[in-house]
Amino acid sequence: MSGTRRFQLVVLSLLLIVVPLWRSVAAEQTRSSTVGPFALPVGTVILDAGHGGHDPGASATWSFSGRVDEKDITLDMVKRVKGILAIEAPDLSVVLTRGDDTYVSLEDRCAIAVSTEPAAGTSAMFISIHVNSALTSSASGFEFLIKSQSKKVNVLGPDSPASAAARFSRYTNSELARQLNQQNLLLGQAMEQSLVRAFPKERNRGVKEADIYVLNYSRMPAVLVEIGFLSNENDARNLTSPSWRQEMARAIASAILGGKASL
Ligand SMILES: [Zn+2]
Repeated sequence: MSGTRRFQLVVLSLLLIVVPLWRSVAAEQTRSSTVGPFALPVGTVILDAGHGGHDPGASATWSFSGRVDEKDITLDMVKRVKGILAIEAPDLSVVLTRGDDTYVSLEDRCAIAVSTEPAAGTSAMFISIHVNSALTSSASGFEFLIKSQSKKVNVLGPDSPASAAARFSRYTNSELARQLNQQNLLLGQAMEQSLVRAFPKERNRGVKEADIYVLNYSRMPAVLVEIGFLSNENDARNLTSPSWRQEMARAIASAILGGKASL
């Protein structure tokens, strides 16, 4: 084999190695540039405890518990999730829309979300926790509500903070709306998978689109988790059990952290 031929072979071999490497790096760059602002690592979580103050939400009275109000369960749940996140992800910024038994309007809950800006290079998510109730006592299990895909959200509004304008200025509102729909679904599915893993015997009612104020106006990936039915005896026993609530809080926290935490 001549020196020239050997040189050509070496160059060819190098090209065969380098070109695919270069191509995969280029593909990675393309992917990350199309991931968008809602898919960045989560840096801020808004935890929204449903109802509060004069609005008790669902209520039930059981022989084993006495009267139970949804607003008390949801408040306890967000505190538990916050406590777990403080240990598992101390750098995460966690904001509660209410931290006590006060009434916060739906508009104010969304205003809190809109005015909470995630740190550079991170994204925010909105997790609303509720408890279900039905006329038939047989209805049970958890479900995950996300915004209807057809409901358009103007991510950039006149009341957006200046930092949000900077964060989203590369995108049109329709592109942001498309990315938001995509992330809502992923968040709903992540939450579903985490709860199914933690509670394999409970009924999973699935991820559903719903027309709900806080989902429509949060301007960030948002999911409303209905953790069980107060009108169902088995669910009510779970919902009034501190150890079950802690397990549920761990499952929710695990989903927020993308399953990365040691939960
Ligand atoms: Zn509710």
